[in-house]
Amino acid sequence: ATLVLSQFPYPGQADSKVALIDSVTNSRVTYAKLRLSVKSLASGLYHALGIHKGDVVFLLSPNSILYPTICLAVLSIGAVLTTANPLNTTSEIAKQVSDSGAILAISSPEEVKKLASTGIPILVTTCSPTNDNLLSVEELIEGSDPSDAPQVRSIQSDTAAILYSSGTTGVSKGVVLTHANFISIVTLLKWSAAVVSASNDVFLCFIPMFHIYGLCFFGLGLFCVGSTIVLMPKFDFQGMLEAIETHHVSNIPAVPPVILGMAKSTNKSRYNISSLRRVGSGAAPLSKEVSDLFRKWYPWVELREGYGLTETCGATSYFVSDDDAKQHLGSVGQLIPSFCAKVVDVETGILLPPYREGELWLKSPTVMKQYLGNVEATAATIDSEGWLHTGDLCYFDKDGFLYIVDRIKELIKHNGYQVAPAELEAVLLSHPQILDAAVIPLEDEEAGQIPMAYVVRPADSTLSEDQVIQFIASQVAPYKKVRKVDFINAIPRSTAGKILRKQLMTQNRQQLT
Ligand code: ATP
Repeated sequence: ATLVLSQFPYPGQADSKVALIDSVTNSRVTYAKLRLSVKSLASGLYHALGIHKGDVVFLLSPNSILYPTICLAVLSIGAVLTTANPLNTTSEIAKQVSDSGAILAISSPEEVKKLASTGIPILVTTCSPTNDNLLSVEELIEGSDPSDAPQVRSIQSDTAAILYSSGTTGVSKGVVLTHANFISIVTLLKWSAAVVSASNDVFLCFIPMFHIYGLCFFGLGLFCVGSTIVLMPKFDFQGMLEAIETHHVSNIPAVPPVILGMAKSTNKSRYNISSLRRVGSGAAPLSKEVSDLFRKWYPWVELREGYGLTETCGATSYFVSDDDAKQHLGSVGQLIPSFCAKVVDVETGILLPPYREGELWLKSPTVMKQYLGNVEATAATIDSEGWLHTGDLCYFDKDGFLYIVDRIKELIKHNGYQVAPAELEAVLLSHPQILDAAVIPLEDEEAGQIPMAYVVRPADSTLSEDQVIQFIASQVAPYKKVRKVDFINAIPRSTAGKILRKQLMTQNRQQLT
């Protein structure tokens, strides 16, 4: 590959082109300014703070206009980026700092206190009265000479980032990603951008940049494509519609709850969102029913699903055309070039033909190097032939379109059958009076586990537990029937849009005791 991460953001975009817009303050950063800020910050981190190649920098901040500058500057000096959800607790943060070996934290003012116990130096993103003793990224950029930025060459096997999986199905692990991984994924983004001419696009960013999805798109990738990014520091539904109208947003990489919100929204016509050309969905299952509803209300918008994992540095499959997406509803697209995949029997590892469900195994230049300091977990995930075992139950159709059934660990084991919560959730969401839903396993002495549903209904709805049970029963095989339903106000989800089943299961256990 000829791309080098230390050259981010690539030359070639017109200096005056706007790279970033803050949707709240409306402040703008041109490509020239972005390049200059990255160089100044790189220079400051290196000369003033002594951050050198291989040093780990911990970034704790919600999305902000400075976020991409920080990511690019850290990578450009060969330092290693580790990011975290700003909602993480003090002890989770301390654990990540210690596990990753971070020697500097860059934190938004609100999170600084959570870092106190770690003892590492803190650079605050922006000045604030409560942290006036701390140097800020803005001050460091101001006070550093961009022409002094070090020329650090990183070889492709060098670690670029350690991203922690959120641990939705187990403990959180540090995924070690290399420069080669990022270069491959950015090249692929560039390739797919060429297909969709994204340089003319205005992207809206509210997906978190600490997660691989947001980091690849908004922290790194789109700058080499030359797009304009409108940044929403915090997601809210009205704010999203307003930002689309104000900034003529054309493209939104999103997550299923956002698509669901748009599909089931009751005030669709308040804003002019005719500029929107494409919405992407990834990171969690999107049901066919919800995508159908979305297409019905927004017929001018292309809805494209993609699939990926932190362990593959993000995107794994994608749709290159809207026709493909429409003809393969429920699919997450075809493999991105350079990926090899097979679907194997979960028990025996034997290769399965199209349409047979099994575990998806992947090989690609984007596959992580390892889990940090966890030889056992690495060996259990990447086998001796280099196949990454995704833990996802999937199948391919005869044309190579991929369908995700569910995470193997989340399947409900009922009387020897396996029930995919995602399938039941899709059925529930097709009910006009169900706004959102989640299915979890309930332990049962006789059946092992039985499916239970959490349902969100409109405030004035009289929908009853029995009606929900009947509705499901009329559409699925008897062994998949939901036996218990609870109504709640909102389904808990991770910032990447995944249902927090463990939280619902704990909640349910507490109710029972
Ligand atoms: P952990 O693996 O520790 O639980 P995590 O949930 O944060 O952490 P991610 O890398 O964010 O890990 O999630 C990857 C998983 O997300 C995939 O293995 C798959 O189960 C799910 N996923 C991603 N995209 C889709 C999609 N389009 N449809 C269904 N599932 C998806």
